[in-house]
Amino acid sequence: MNAETKIDAARVDLLLAELRLCGLKQVWASIATLSDKEGWPAARFLAALAEQELAERNRRRFARNLQEARLPPGKSLETFDFEAVPMISKAQAHALAAGDAWLGQGANLILFGPPGSGKSHLAAALGLALVENGWRVLFARSSDLMQKLQLARRDLALESAIAKLDKYQLLVLDDFAYVARDQAETSVLFELISARYERKSLLVTANQPFAEWGRIFPDQAMTLAAIDRLVHHSTIFEMNVESYRRKSAVATARAAGRPATRATITNSI
Ligand code: ADP
Ligand code: MG
Repeated sequence: MNAETKIDAARVDLLLAELRLCGLKQVWASIATLSDKEGWPAARFLAALAEQELAERNRRRFARNLQEARLPPGKSLETFDFEAVPMISKAQAHALAAGDAWLGQGANLILFGPPGSGKSHLAAALGLALVENGWRVLFARSSDLMQKLQLARRDLALESAIAKLDKYQLLVLDDFAYVARDQAETSVLFELISARYERKSLLVTANQPFAEWGRIFPDQAMTLAAIDRLVHHSTIFEMNVESYRRKSAVATARAAGRPATRATITNSI
């Protein structure tokens, strides 16, 4: 490298640092060496640099979005056994994981099923796949989120707390039916549902079908209005299958030669 090239290289480093293109600062020299060796036209060299920067930005964005999504670890579509829930096909789940068809319109997804049927797993797995596809997701236990919103309301900041959740194209409300049932809490829930209606998506998991929701919202008009908004643009999966936990406990027990009933009692939920 002659003196002039060295000065140019130093300037490039300074300029890239000034432009905050730190990823590019690490790699541009090796791409430049390759480009010189292969005799690339300038446009090809520039395209290679731009591609590199874009890939790096996507990687950083994914890491950030994954961290903020607060997904339960280890739950992916790859580890989800679709044979256990014949009412949902792998193809359907993968279509939902692309996101475009529903998140773009603020449509919802509702998963019903008894405890252990895989609702949280599927919700987390879809969340992860959506983050991988560039969407912003927040996975929350319904009761935790409602508590936060209730505190915000006490501080007269409910509206802005709900508005802050707008940055998530998907908000997962896990265990919807478990939220406490006092009037104040249920109305923040209602306000959240209304605020996101037809704009931003919700994925709700619940043990109880709609018929039981009267116990979540104390006021029947509010129950109906909430259900109406949730289902208007939605896909509903009824995962009426045996508990996966229980099934695998029974299978383990059988393999160990123990009676299934005993294993069911000791290992279930
Ligand atoms: P739910 O939320 O419906 O109560 P979970 O999603 O928490 O049920 O499932 C209970 C456990 O069983 C979790 O460890 C989950 O990973 C596992 N599980 C449930 N369904 C499946 C499935 N179809 N394939 C793989 N694991 C499953
Ligand atoms: Mg669950």
